[in-house]
Amino acid sequence: MSSSPTTKRQKRGEGQWALGYREPLNPNERSKKDDNPLNVRARIENIYAHTGFAGIDPGDLRGRFRWFGLYTQRKPGIDGGRTATLEPEELDDEFFMLRVRIDGGAVTTEQLRVIGEVSRDYARDTADITDRQNIQYHWIRVEDMPTIWKKLEDVGLTTMEACGDSPRVILGSPVAGIAEDEVIDGTPAIDEIKRRYVGDKAFANLPRKFKTAISGLPDVAHEVHDVAFVGVHHPEHGPGFDVWVGGGLSTNPMIGQRLGAWISLDEVPDVWAGVISIFRDYGYRRLRNRARLKFLVKDWGAARFREVLETEYLKRPLYDGPPPEVPDQPRDHIGVHRQKDGHFYLGAAPIAGRVSGAKLIAVADAAEKAGSHRVRFTPLQKLIVLDVARSEVDSLKTTLAGLGLQTDPSPWRRGVMACTGLEFCKLAIVETKARAVDLVSQLEDRLKDITGDVTTPISVHINGCPNSCARIQTADIGLKGQIVTDDDGNQVEGFQVHLGGGLGLDTGFGRKLRGHKVTADELAEYVERVVRNYVADRKPDERFPQ
Ligand code: SF4
Repeated sequence: MSSSPTTKRQKRGEGQWALGYREPLNPNERSKKDDNPLNVRARIENIYAHTGFAGIDPGDLRGRFRWFGLYTQRKPGIDGGRTATLEPEELDDEFFMLRVRIDGGAVTTEQLRVIGEVSRDYARDTADITDRQNIQYHWIRVEDMPTIWKKLEDVGLTTMEACGDSPRVILGSPVAGIAEDEVIDGTPAIDEIKRRYVGDKAFANLPRKFKTAISGLPDVAHEVHDVAFVGVHHPEHGPGFDVWVGGGLSTNPMIGQRLGAWISLDEVPDVWAGVISIFRDYGYRRLRNRARLKFLVKDWGAARFREVLETEYLKRPLYDGPPPEVPDQPRDHIGVHRQKDGHFYLGAAPIAGRVSGAKLIAVADAAEKAGSHRVRFTPLQKLIVLDVARSEVDSLKTTLAGLGLQTDPSPWRRGVMACTGLEFCKLAIVETKARAVDLVSQLEDRLKDITGDVTTPISVHINGCPNSCARIQTADIGLKGQIVTDDDGNQVEGFQVHLGGGLGLDTGFGRKLRGHKVTADELAEYVERVVRNYVADRKPDERFPQ
């Protein structure tokens, strides 16, 4: 493998394998080198499921378990002000969060029922739809993992590489294959990448996580992924994909860059393998906070990245291609919509993705009663029932509404997202999910006089810490959890506000105004004030100001 031009920083050594830095430069890299993280599955089944929590090797517990979707959850009762001061073992509960990867967000009703049953039987009926189309459980015991894997895998589901420095779940359009206006259905590429590469030891030791989106519609936040394939019509070659690399949020948010290359559906798995190989070989491994692909792309630029991809990995040039069309409104697929085959799909909104095992089983039953066998989760923490005959739409709508899954929700229920937060996350500083429920209820009440005037959605994303699991920088109103000082000088839970972020036509990160902080108790009042000002001052159909 030839070496690439290096920047000054790279010359000092960023831990890039391709430049000869093979010796681990931090404890995470050491752990991955000492033992391939995928080997932990056998230890969980053969050892830890029998010893219980107390017998788990710490290196596995806080490291390699993640490759199978397992994180220790936060011990109840530890307030957010203590998060940064405690040692990991003081924050660890004996129970786990478990993520089931659901590539493209697509499940059958049979799979959905099993997901619900696992929640009911092993996770105290917890289940959250994440903003990456996964399902996340809590209260999992290591002793139950062999049975849980058996039940999930019997219906074709997996937790493999749901977390960890690995190729995580692939986001896909929740309406892939059924949308009247999609450019191309990316599902075959998602399936093929999963079949070939998920669980492949060649990609199980990456510098950090690797997030992929593949969609024939711009509905998967492709701008903030490590690699994204976005549907586009090429004037000569027809429908295919535009390739983006190097997007990501968290504490150094960056918008992905277009490579300017068009590829066909069949080429996607090979190009994906080329991009992830560059990340594995050239990605920065010295510092964890510089280890995402976006830092390499920023240093190299898109042209250099494409050149290395073509010459060192694909061994052929790619066609140049046009950019994808940019939507003027974000698409959340809520409501009743016609499919291209004449059936209908129903997009329904829980609040901030919170459902339960019982609810998911009830959705599977209701969908089947309406003649459907397919459900999808969305990157906005919503769910969709596909393939419904017109004659079944009204009764399914009513059933879903009875489950708290409204297909005609208020703008607030529709626009609020929240990460896991203080309830279960060890990094959290503030509560998020319960706060989202309270916020939606308060806004529905406070703003009922102007609800009809909110003709374009307003997104409110709530994070429990400076990480960006709920994509706060791309929301109209982004709320970053932190401890703030209230009017009486007390240290209380609150939020740094980011205003005016967006994707699509208005791609950009929200403005973080100095001193723009709000206590949790004042949150509803604050959002009400912002929305009333916007509605009063805007021009017709003007989106939330950037
Ligand atoms: Fe946890 Fe922070 Fe992510 Fe929320 S944003 S889930 S608190 S790491």
